[in-house]
Amino acid sequence: MRAAIEAKRCGVDVAVVSKLHPTRSHSGAAEGGINAALGNATEDSPESHTFDTVKGSDYLGDQDAIEIMCREAPGDIFELEQMGAIFSRAADGRLAQRPFGAAGAPRTVYSADITGHVLIHVLYEQLVKHEVTVYEEFHCTNLVIDDGRCAGLLAWDIVRGGVHAIEANHVILATGGVGRMYYGTTNAYACTGDGMSLAWRAGVPLKDMEFMQFHPTTLKSNGVLITEGCRGEGGYLRNKDGERFMARDAPNAMELASRDVVSRAEWKEIADGRGVDGCVLLDLTHLGPKKIKTRLPGSRELALDYAGVDPIKEPIPVRPGAHYHMGGVDVDVWGESIIPGLWAAGEVACVSVHGANRLGGNSLMETITYGRRAGRAAGERVLNEGDLNARIEAGVVADEERRLLALLRSDSGERPGVIREDLAKSMYDKAGVFRTEETLQEARAKVHELRERARRLHLQDHGNLFNSDLVQALELYALLECADCLVTGALARQESRGAHSRLDFPDRDDDRWMKHTLATYDHGEVRLDYKPVTVTRFEPVVRSY
Ligand SMILES: Cc1cc2nc3c(=O)[nH]c(=O)nc-3n(C[C@H](O)[C@H](O)[C@H](O)COP(=O)(O)OP(=O)(O)OC[C@H]3O[C@@H](n4cnc5c(N)ncnc54)[C@H](O)[C@@H]3O)c2cc1C
Repeated sequence: MRAAIEAKRCGVDVAVVSKLHPTRSHSGAAEGGINAALGNATEDSPESHTFDTVKGSDYLGDQDAIEIMCREAPGDIFELEQMGAIFSRAADGRLAQRPFGAAGAPRTVYSADITGHVLIHVLYEQLVKHEVTVYEEFHCTNLVIDDGRCAGLLAWDIVRGGVHAIEANHVILATGGVGRMYYGTTNAYACTGDGMSLAWRAGVPLKDMEFMQFHPTTLKSNGVLITEGCRGEGGYLRNKDGERFMARDAPNAMELASRDVVSRAEWKEIADGRGVDGCVLLDLTHLGPKKIKTRLPGSRELALDYAGVDPIKEPIPVRPGAHYHMGGVDVDVWGESIIPGLWAAGEVACVSVHGANRLGGNSLMETITYGRRAGRAAGERVLNEGDLNARIEAGVVADEERRLLALLRSDSGERPGVIREDLAKSMYDKAGVFRTEETLQEARAKVHELRERARRLHLQDHGNLFNSDLVQALELYALLECADCLVTGALARQESRGAHSRLDFPDRDDDRWMKHTLATYDHGEVRLDYKPVTVTRFEPVVRSY
């Protein structure tokens, strides 16, 4: 939405295509906040934000891209506020900022613990104000590449059925992440990596797909996230003996160490028998009812509803869950891919701001800053190109119709949900917080087996109207392709860096592996290439906590 608003401001014709109503997008679930070095709580600067992000990325983030985001973030926050975002305030009236993991200063601007919800509604209002056309509940099924450049996309009308061609000189993918590839995940049901698979099949490499971040505090019953804001406000993590076990793994940062470190510490605690029913305990009781009710009301509600626990009185059982995918469509600092006319921004993209590990609060900022930049660059490109008019041939639409109708009518084979579940369990167990050559080989074999099995699917609903069976089948193909890229990249990367933790290669190996993985479509299979990381100011140093 931020990209669409900016492109519209350039004076070009813009439409948003979304498989959900825009305000139901997954961003609405973001709780904790959005990072910008405003320096309202303590002294802070874009340089310090840049350093923390580079370090957090385990030196895999491109430092030019990180510098841009950290420099432009404060202006973007003020603009969001002017658009109508109601952020929480400090006693002196300025925007409040809370501490977040691995940040050198309290830098996270927030609206209580419903930041994403607030932002997504403000942006939707702006879409309406700017009179941007929205094709909602249209599922994009393919990009159209004509003579080497993007000419638009094909979409299935979920509500009424039927394939539509949407001709466009420029397409910006903003389709979000792929957390649903994993069994325990904080991601919404719709986060199935569609945009990554669309770009991959069109010939754009996917970058650093092996890096999936696990969030340390998710509920066991359904993967729902309990925000890092809880630890930012002073929450403790304890094992079954009441011990604050982070003292062993990160004696300085403790609970506010970066997410990869905390997730690994929890995983070890649980594996070594010091957990409670497959979880550790997030203790907020010492914060007192007033702070919990004013600063963390959403988290309290989630704990009450889904874990049956009131955090004012007792700790919340939590465990690591797949949360944020650092990898994505390989784009430059304006969001442009190698295919003219095809761009990407937000979680679907890999600029790369987050490298091997994202810092909490940086991804909402990336969606805004890089969304705005992609919208501006694509909008200006349209103006400069003059009378370029993308066209989609009727035959292309007819082919897509045939493909989707064949899938719609298929009644021999397996149910998509069965394969989806098999995939998610295998990824959580074999390509999760800790990985080895053996587990990754098993995961890859499983993904290949599932890709084969998914050639024959059984759809129970053969109708045109609101056919969620069809949508889930399409999402399954995207999940499987993304999973193949993830495990293939993870198997090749013989080191531990950020969220990619190999028990058989426990150290970071800058000599061999300080480079980006590129996974390219090669006759349906994954081909790996590499490209260098951009280093501007910060030479890699070994992390300490
Ligand atoms: C529970 C949770 C809490 C989080 N909290 C924070 C936080 O506090 N701070 C922070 O910085 N980050 C946070 N994150 C991460 C952050 O929220 C996400 O990275 C970010 O919101 C992703 O935004 P997006 O615009 O890229 O994608 P999304 O918000 O997921 O939007 C994707 C859009 O693409 C559409 N789409 C997808 N596929 C198709 C298709 N095939 N056809 C048509 N449309 C399609 C969807 O309909 C949707 O509208 C959190 C993540 C989770 C899971």
